[in-house]
Amino acid sequence: MFEQDIDVVSVALPVPLRKTFEYAYLKSSNSASNPLKSLTKGTRVLVPFGRQTLVGVVLECKQESDHPIEKLKAIKAVIDDQVTLPGDICQLLDWAATYYQHPIGEVYATAIPTLLRSSKAISEQAPQVLNKTTQLPALSDINKNASQLKRLAEALADKVLSKPELKQAEIKSTTIKRFIDEGWAQWQPLTPSQPLVQQSQLDDGLALNPEQAIAVAAINNVSQFQCFLLDGITGSGKTEVYLQTIAKRLLQQQQVMVLVPEIGLTPQTIKRFEQRFNVPIALWHSGMTDKQRFESWYQCLTGEAKILIATRSGVFVPFANLGLIVIDEEHDASFKQQEGFKYHCRSLALYRAAKGNIPVILGSATPSLETLNNALSGKYHHLLLRQRATGAVLPEMKLVDLNRCQQQTGLGQPLIDALKQQLALGKQVMLFINRRGFAPVLMCEECHWMTDCHRCSGFMTYHKGSDLLICHHCGNQHRTIKQCMSCGSTRIVPVGQGTEQIQQSLTELFPEYPVVRLDRDSTAKKGEFEALLNQIQKGEPQVIVGTQMIAKGHHFPNVTLVGIVDVDGSLFSSDFRAAEKLSQLVVQVAGRAGRGSDKGSVWLQSKFPEHPVIQDLLNNQYEDFAKFALSERKMLQLPPYSHQVLLKAESTDESAGGMWLQGLLPHLQGFENLMCLGPMPAPMNKKAGKYRYLLQLQCQSRGYLHKVVDWLIENLDNLQNNNKIRWSIDVDPYELN
Ligand code: ADP
Ligand code: ZN
Ligand code: ZN
Repeated sequence: MFEQDIDVVSVALPVPLRKTFEYAYLKSSNSASNPLKSLTKGTRVLVPFGRQTLVGVVLECKQESDHPIEKLKAIKAVIDDQVTLPGDICQLLDWAATYYQHPIGEVYATAIPTLLRSSKAISEQAPQVLNKTTQLPALSDINKNASQLKRLAEALADKVLSKPELKQAEIKSTTIKRFIDEGWAQWQPLTPSQPLVQQSQLDDGLALNPEQAIAVAAINNVSQFQCFLLDGITGSGKTEVYLQTIAKRLLQQQQVMVLVPEIGLTPQTIKRFEQRFNVPIALWHSGMTDKQRFESWYQCLTGEAKILIATRSGVFVPFANLGLIVIDEEHDASFKQQEGFKYHCRSLALYRAAKGNIPVILGSATPSLETLNNALSGKYHHLLLRQRATGAVLPEMKLVDLNRCQQQTGLGQPLIDALKQQLALGKQVMLFINRRGFAPVLMCEECHWMTDCHRCSGFMTYHKGSDLLICHHCGNQHRTIKQCMSCGSTRIVPVGQGTEQIQQSLTELFPEYPVVRLDRDSTAKKGEFEALLNQIQKGEPQVIVGTQMIAKGHHFPNVTLVGIVDVDGSLFSSDFRAAEKLSQLVVQVAGRAGRGSDKGSVWLQSKFPEHPVIQDLLNNQYEDFAKFALSERKMLQLPPYSHQVLLKAESTDESAGGMWLQGLLPHLQGFENLMCLGPMPAPMNKKAGKYRYLLQLQCQSRGYLHKVVDWLIENLDNLQNNNKIRWSIDVDPYELN
């Protein structure tokens, strides 16, 4: 064997180590005349790792190694006969691993659909199409009454049909089964076809108002990288702008990726796209099976799907010919991954658009201050929609001063009166409370003992329906206690309100109207969420109680009143983003009111009516708040005027994490212009049995901050070796946690 027949291949493996691994690969050649072929970056390979065999991704092929080549273990198998991750995705992942300081193998693993994390080849998993066999009888021979059978036979006459196409044609699965059982048709692997998108497949859009027309024209005019902030109040018709700019890319035979917040991917959203575009639309979210997600991934890769509507991790899906990225509700917290590989979907999408040289639209009624700052400074093209598209007017803001009125289970009398009045007029009303369960804690009336979680520095939430105490931080749960664990008293009472309790008291207050509840508990089973939405859509007078779930995206024309039960929780937070987050939430929730022809009202309940944030919410637009908040951030040199990295240390030992971080400080003090805040206990100091501490690093220069972190990671083990500590890094942290 000649030396040059062997390549040294560096491979990314799904292990939490900040390194790559080298293997030997004996180059193959198809024939004597073909040159020896090296492996391409992005190819999946099977390699030995300790006693295991792992699926890895090829990062690089070289001729040399720091180790003797004959000592390298050999690659066991090349899994696919094509690259699994195309070059642009590899480039994105390489950048992300460096930027977020995360082990490269885990970053690559994130981008690989679960089905492909095993050694099965793509070709084995690839979607199939239904094809007729020679035994398919003539149309006239199929039973006249069996219209479904006839339709499928007709449809199969001159082409094969993919699963999405069968679904689109509303062919039932029983019909398909009948065809297969009869031997009339069979499944076969899809050879991706990419028929051109025709104008006739796209419904005409609405006639745009002037603001929308300006936005659509600006975006459609651009075919290279450019970031647009579509800054439009709730109901201003942002979605219509997306749809008309998407149509243009589709006609240019390009694909489009639409990223939405986790709870923004509602059946209503999907329906709106399906009604407008008669093209294959792929979905990507956590509610899908691994198989369904793989099929979406594959359809985007091959170019069959023209549109992908996806939540956060969809940003890694490869496309044959991506022409536009849309991020709806760009400010939404769910775009930031909080555990493990802590990436921000928006940052990755922007990188992807820049490298792919395509436009990207960030849409929001309440843009994040980071994005707004980029728009105001001219880095992004700022497009404004300031009118509601249907002509509806924005709701009126009202305050319920909880110090000055009677209350029933946390609802002030003026709010109750207003609810009653709207219901009597045949309207729907909506109450928002960001806490599910019956009460956030139970308390003993004798000794004031509370139901704390023994694994966390937090309390167990009382769920009355299921008679459970559940810790929302670690998932710990057990049957509700009937006696105080400290003194044995049976005088146990709920403190505070959750959705369950608000629902119960509203049912008592308004027995003649239905009270529906939308939260994670009431919609846990498949189909429940859709059923509740359908019931609300009918428009009959009713009370809707819900969490975050009701805040976004929904268009309920008959809702005229929205009550926000508790805003005080976030007024005195240690998070410098608390006011921004609260304002965004209130505007979103308020956006559900008065979308129809009647003017709506929004009621804020507070014990601190003079608080500047409350005053801002009552009297000013989000825009005013945001500009003021930006000037404050500038003065305090907080993001977006500086950059942050959070270093976290976790241990089962109560003080070890804090001491470990403390020990790093002297080493960090040598870096000029670096600000270190802490170490401090995390707001939730103990979580799931671990004590957590934070050290916040802040710097005006992003590049400099990254250099510090690079240095830190390289030297951490030497500086502070302690195997009782688990540390992690959060670049551009969104939560202090
Ligand atoms: P947003 O996404 O900004 O909250 P939507 O796109 O949901 O707003 O639009 C709100 C409502 O206005 C929808 O019912 C939509 O059909 C309607 N709409 C949007 N654009 C127009 C338009 N140009 N003319 C008439 N109605 C419109
Ligand atoms: Zn807990
Ligand atoms: Zn007690």
